[in-house]
Amino acid sequence: MSSMPDRPVVTRIAPSPTGSMHIGTARTALFNWLYARHTGGQFLLRIEDTDRERSTEDAVQVIFDGLAWLGLEPDSPAVFQAARADLHRQAVDDLLTRGAAYRCYMTVDEVAAEREKARAEGRAIRSPWRERAADAGDNRPHVIRFKGPADGETIVQDLVKGPVTFRNRELDDLILLRSDGAPTYNLAVVVDDHDMGITHVIRGDDHLNNAARQTLIYQALGWEVPTWAHLPLIHGPDGSKLSKRHGAQAVGEFAEMGYLPEAMRNYLARLGWGHGDDEIFSDAQAISWFDVADVVSAPARLDWAKLNHINNHYIRQAEVVRLSTMVATLHEGRGLTLSAEDRETLQRTVPLVRDGAKTLLELADLTAFVLHRRPLELPEKALAMLTDETRARLGRLATALTGFAEWAPAHLEPAIRAFAEAEGVGIGKFGPALRAALSGGSPAPDLAGALSALGRTESLARIDDALSPRA
Ligand code: GLU
Repeated sequence: MSSMPDRPVVTRIAPSPTGSMHIGTARTALFNWLYARHTGGQFLLRIEDTDRERSTEDAVQVIFDGLAWLGLEPDSPAVFQAARADLHRQAVDDLLTRGAAYRCYMTVDEVAAEREKARAEGRAIRSPWRERAADAGDNRPHVIRFKGPADGETIVQDLVKGPVTFRNRELDDLILLRSDGAPTYNLAVVVDDHDMGITHVIRGDDHLNNAARQTLIYQALGWEVPTWAHLPLIHGPDGSKLSKRHGAQAVGEFAEMGYLPEAMRNYLARLGWGHGDDEIFSDAQAISWFDVADVVSAPARLDWAKLNHINNHYIRQAEVVRLSTMVATLHEGRGLTLSAEDRETLQRTVPLVRDGAKTLLELADLTAFVLHRRPLELPEKALAMLTDETRARLGRLATALTGFAEWAPAHLEPAIRAFAEAEGVGIGKFGPALRAALSGGSPAPDLAGALSALGRTESLARIDDALSPRA
């Protein structure tokens, strides 16, 4: 199904700043971004900061940072919902004038009693003030409620779910303005989406019920209802709702665990959407293929093995300088101070070991050996391998290597083989000891790789250290 619209598409992401950015929000942002890019439209950001206690500057920054890290930056500066409260109130005035809203003076106790009654009768709560002309001068505390249609149906035409029918008698007259004049969520969303020119509301399907209420508000205001697309939630690998026990949930945690943003985009795109069996695809391909109408309605499951596979692919593809810089930052975070030379060494090492890294943390582990400071602490096992015979042999190898011109795996590898042949032994006779001398027992590539990563001077110094008597 193609949903190529006939007017320029404007999508948005409307997160509430809560202190972290959920992976589901990231996926919603991605789908909105992809759809806007696919249709040549706009992707906007609105910060739903009406909860003044939670919406700190830091919490807002987390969203900006999360989107920037994911590479999903909006096309216009963010709109802040709380700053628009007067516009929300104006819309309520409009609804009052149109007879589509009313002042409700029910007390807390009265609401509770009506709620009980409504539940018993299987209907939504109704206020007695719905049909009563309030005295404009009545200043007792009151809320303003939406006056929804008592009968009939509201159909949400959803691009993902298909048409979803709601019986109006089951939708209560929701509060638009609280007694302190604060606008409520459903009102604010409608007014903001309308003012921002949003054509497509693409969000989590936990908001599907709200879409029915919001549709009614649009209609009452005489505004065009946007196209809805409610995305299935992301579940854990076991199919249950994603929770802490499934591991990371916040975008920042994925970043800290060493996932690359392009891998996240690729992986998240496949949570609820896909292009045949294609597992790896570029942004450009995703943009050209993505249609929100192709999103499936069943919940998607987070699959760590797939994410790791995709991340490994992008680690293998990434620019070496970029990877090395990120890995250097991780090493510094682990307490090392890196010199310019260390950074060069890292750059030499990354291409030799990255195939085996599923995350940047693993890449940091795989490159750690080059940053060990001499003399290396050799594990017992390594010391045991350094018999007199092996020491003598490594000494001869060091001499051979000293005069060696080309210090790169392609040259070192045959040189080591030739040395073993000349000694009349297999590489197994001295290889493990050499490796330990070079790496201190940390993960390292093969011998030629380890030598080439360390460079001539450091390699020979480490061999020399291992052969020198210990204090
Ligand atoms: N602020 C809402 C949330 O974070 C999203 C509202 C919407 O997308 O309409 O769940």
